[in-house]
Amino acid sequence: MAGINCIGILTSGGDAPGMNAAIRAVTRSAIFGGFKVKGIYRGYRGLITGEIQEFKTQNVSNIIQAGGTILKTARCKEFQTPEGRQLAYETLKKEGIDALVVIGGDGSLTGARIFATEFNFPIVGLPGTIDNDLYGTDKTIGYDTALNTIMECVDKIRDTATSHERLFFIEVMGRDAGFLALNGAIATGAEAAIIPEISTEVDQLAELIQSGFRKSKNSSIVLVAESPITGGAMALAERVKNEYPQYDVRVTILGHLQRGGSPTAVDRILASRMGAAAVDALLEDQRNVMIGIRNDEIVYVPFSKAIKNDKPINRELLNTLRRLSI
Ligand code: ADP
Repeated sequence: MAGINCIGILTSGGDAPGMNAAIRAVTRSAIFGGFKVKGIYRGYRGLITGEIQEFKTQNVSNIIQAGGTILKTARCKEFQTPEGRQLAYETLKKEGIDALVVIGGDGSLTGARIFATEFNFPIVGLPGTIDNDLYGTDKTIGYDTALNTIMECVDKIRDTATSHERLFFIEVMGRDAGFLALNGAIATGAEAAIIPEISTEVDQLAELIQSGFRKSKNSSIVLVAESPITGGAMALAERVKNEYPQYDVRVTILGHLQRGGSPTAVDRILASRMGAAAVDALLEDQRNVMIGIRNDEIVYVPFSKAIKNDKPINRELLNTLRRLSI
């Protein structure tokens, strides 16, 4: 690994459970490999303002179980300008940081890609987002925890839905991806999932729910992915209410509940493996790649692929939901 002595780490964009486990893994693997490590606070903003601290192994003690990110995160408009990125580059030079590990979602990795190309700077990305919307990896860090949170919340709502014989629309996160909604629906035995990848007409939905109520069901739950394409749970519920006034329709928006909490074992292990792999990738002179996991194997995904491509929804999951919700 030519000329790398010090690795900088930052978390950027939306926080996700497991980011701390990833910070710990990058820090410890780098120190294990003989490198110096510097933590950069508040994402790209900290790179511009120079909010940076050297990390020793004890700086990442006792954080594997914590949600959020000890490095804080931010959205930084200035980094989207060439002037802002020039300032960031100057900070890196001043701090003696020769490579970066960026933990974040689609936006953060887009920024990483632009910066890496502009300054020929080695950057490895880790997919840190609850949305699971990055191409080239089966899972992203934080997704499993968010899915489990959704499951716990929907189970609780089911108690009320059943007791009152109600129809609930529950909005979950996902940006423009339906992974949380679809898998959340399967995990909770929901009647349907409305996701941006598949168009569902109100009539189809009402028919499905009606047939459910006609048979033996006395409650119905529909998970809706928040997205301009689905229109969100509120808008959908309004349409169903207008057209089918016989239903007692309620809406719950899970919102930021979904981001927090202690990461699941799956996320802690994923973040640990990916964090260690990020250091390996730098050792192998890889740059401009995101660490991914496919069929339980670590893979390197070029930023250009990870960001640009839409990750497809597995049709088998859709069919399973349809068959099990009769
Ligand atoms: P996420 O990483 O969770 O998708 P955002 O989309 O908000 O979050 O992106 C996080 C940050 O990444 C932005 O605030 C910005 O600093 C940086 N970023 C996003 N897109 C670009 C871009 N096209 N060019 C440079 N930086 C970007």
